[in-house]
Amino acid sequence: MKLRKKKLVNRISQELAHQKGLTIEGASSRDIYEVLASIINESMEDNWKATQEGYAYGKYKQVYYLSMEFLIGRLMESNLLNLGLLDEAKEAIRELGFNEEEVFSQEHDAGLGNGGLGRLAACFLDSLASLQYPGHGYGIRYRYGLFEQRIIHGNQVELPDYWLTYPYPWEYRKEEDAVVIHFEGNVHIHEDQDGNLIFSYDQTNKVKAIPYDIPISGYQNGTVNTLRLWSAEAIDNIGGSLEENTTYYKELAHQHTIEQISGFLYPDDSSEEGKSLRLKQQYFLVSASIQSIVQQYKQTHKISIDRLHEKVSIQINDTHPSLGIPELMRILLDEEGLSWDNAWKVTTNTFAYTNHTTLSEALEKWPVATIKQLMPRIYMIIEEINERFCQELWLDYKHLRNQIADMAIIAHDTVHMAHLAIVGSYRVNGVARIHTEILKTQEMKYFYQRFPDKFTNKTNGITHRRWLLQVNPELSTLVTDVIGSQWIKRPKKLISLLKYAEDSSVLEKLKEVKLTNKQKLASVIQQRTGIMVDPHSIFDVHIKRLHEYKRQLLNVFHIIYLYNELKDNPQQDVIPRTFIFAAKAAPSYYMAKEVIKLIHTVASIVNHDPDIKGKLKVIFLENYQVSLAEQIIPAADISQQISTASKEASGTGNMKLMMNGAITLGTLDGANIEIRDVVGNDNMFIFGLTAEEVIEYYRNGSYSARALYDQDERIRRILDQLNDGDFGIHQMEFKDIYYHILSHNDPYFVLQDFEPYLEAHELVERAYRNKNKWLSMSLTNIAHSGKFSSDQTIQSYATDIWKLKQVPIK
Ligand SMILES: *Cc1c(COP(=O)(O)O)cnc(C)c1O
Repeated sequence: MKLRKKKLVNRISQELAHQKGLTIEGASSRDIYEVLASIINESMEDNWKATQEGYAYGKYKQVYYLSMEFLIGRLMESNLLNLGLLDEAKEAIRELGFNEEEVFSQEHDAGLGNGGLGRLAACFLDSLASLQYPGHGYGIRYRYGLFEQRIIHGNQVELPDYWLTYPYPWEYRKEEDAVVIHFEGNVHIHEDQDGNLIFSYDQTNKVKAIPYDIPISGYQNGTVNTLRLWSAEAIDNIGGSLEENTTYYKELAHQHTIEQISGFLYPDDSSEEGKSLRLKQQYFLVSASIQSIVQQYKQTHKISIDRLHEKVSIQINDTHPSLGIPELMRILLDEEGLSWDNAWKVTTNTFAYTNHTTLSEALEKWPVATIKQLMPRIYMIIEEINERFCQELWLDYKHLRNQIADMAIIAHDTVHMAHLAIVGSYRVNGVARIHTEILKTQEMKYFYQRFPDKFTNKTNGITHRRWLLQVNPELSTLVTDVIGSQWIKRPKKLISLLKYAEDSSVLEKLKEVKLTNKQKLASVIQQRTGIMVDPHSIFDVHIKRLHEYKRQLLNVFHIIYLYNELKDNPQQDVIPRTFIFAAKAAPSYYMAKEVIKLIHTVASIVNHDPDIKGKLKVIFLENYQVSLAEQIIPAADISQQISTASKEASGTGNMKLMMNGAITLGTLDGANIEIRDVVGNDNMFIFGLTAEEVIEYYRNGSYSARALYDQDERIRRILDQLNDGDFGIHQMEFKDIYYHILSHNDPYFVLQDFEPYLEAHELVERAYRNKNKWLSMSLTNIAHSGKFSSDQTIQSYATDIWKLKQVPIK
């Protein structure tokens, strides 16, 4: 350790001089960051090459994870961790007179995702490499990631995310691997001498896709896989040969239009705006990726293309890349000359589809006209897939016309991407047990009845390397001191902590670790908001995208209730609470933005009211992103996971918080249920409607928000306060929330779950008073969290879906 630190100190000094002509005294944190990144890259290069050669030489099956989002956050610390150099690097940075957090925070988060779905993709890459599986990511190199959130007078304001201001040190542009994507144009059909149909295209608009490769290192094992992100560029450069009738300015405009394709990430993770640009992005991703996959297959394997599925699996992260199915068909039919049946066999044995949501507004549907216009040949293929599928159905379900209409890929002039994905894949998985059950029995029941063997559950996971080892070094050290370091490679070993659930010396240390982390977060809060919070108060954390189903509003209602109670009775003996929120709302999502405004308004009242005497604090940290999550999570006491039951497919924030010793206050939804399976009711706080009850309410229509308003004076008081403008700066301020709840009959059951939620909070407070009991609950959560390592999840995908072999690197 000493030696490697010494070496690093020397290397950094030498490289500073060599690359930048600087001495340590003249260097900035940015300079240190840049030279350290170059040193890290150099350490990965040989292994990266060896890994790729090893895969090609052994002709192993490869898996490709296609995703419109990769929310990778920062990479310097995780690269150092995976190289086994993190502690040494921190010490070297300090020895050089710098602060490591300052250096690491030079890296702008790569925010190429909205939330859980994109973060899952990033955790999966980490686990694939750490388990030595040949698995790679394919995505888009958006020039602008998810917007940067600022709060101005309590309102969310979106700023563009300029993440590429400085050169991004982890990417390698691979000009030689560029491919061409065709949009629009005409399709011609000819017959060859044997009567086969031949398809050709002309007048297409061509776009060049340039890959930028990012090395993904495994944990101290030599494996380095690849995340390949595509960038869109025009084919002819300005100054090259201009076609007739093209002016310089036209050419510039043309280039600009093309570059838009990888211009920005759509900031909406639960509904799709009907933007044809988004569809273009999707086709751009899949066409570039599948061309690249087919090329690599041909270079590596000297067997015919009709055995592609033996050597390749393609996992699609939600339906966003489902055009990959007709795109592979197109390549096999038009370029490789396979018959339809043969091509279909290959395709449907190559793709597997992960479903992430049952929210109807998030199920992708595209107008036929848009697809037809943007990618005419792809549309023809979708039509043919639909035709054949419906014919098959017709043979079996003649008597059930409605059912055929419900299952069709094309209906009412729209293409149903989920139907295409199910029909074109050999496996369909949900992301938590309850979610998979809901798919099988509700949303996709006809498909389940027809293809029961396709459906499988793969509960999400998180990489414990980033979400424990990297972000919480204090806790990691404690865990290793108590049970040894095996858990790092085998996260299930965390279970050995259970033996210490009553050990007061271990619990005492756990208490110190949590307090240290809370002090650190308190100082971040102070710096960012100017508000002082008490590290001895309960840190009650609710961090995730802002959405009605995630019910930040229920949390705020409870805070208003507590505030009302304290105002009525200021002498109440309560344990001080700090409520911490962080959340972005989709820019066009009015109700979500109203909730952000309400949180800020309530915060400014509560935080400044002298009657409250610091018993309540409400904090909203702006610009929620991976690096902010990393700061908050180690300091959390309570993890709020309070979605309307049946709505949260899995959640992964719940797993990260549990792994850091926070106790879940949650509904029986998504992976909360599986957390309860392992920790039991005694080690979390469960409340509220079950998924069955919610579904039954939707079915029978008997729910009445108005009746709850009439019955429960606590609810009435809060809603009236909103309606009367008690909190707003003007009287109309929060009327919309009031009306929204009462006139839309509270679609997410905030009022119904209000009382059970209050009771659960009372139990939280009671439990917190018994400090040893609390610590024991916390330790029990950490002990069971190994089950939610993405290593477990990837292991299960690899054996059940991909049939993948591990490849040790020499
Ligand atoms: C983990 C994570 C999410 C997902 O959180 P949920 O609570 O599961 O919705 C979203 N955004 C970021 C930045 C994350 O790290």
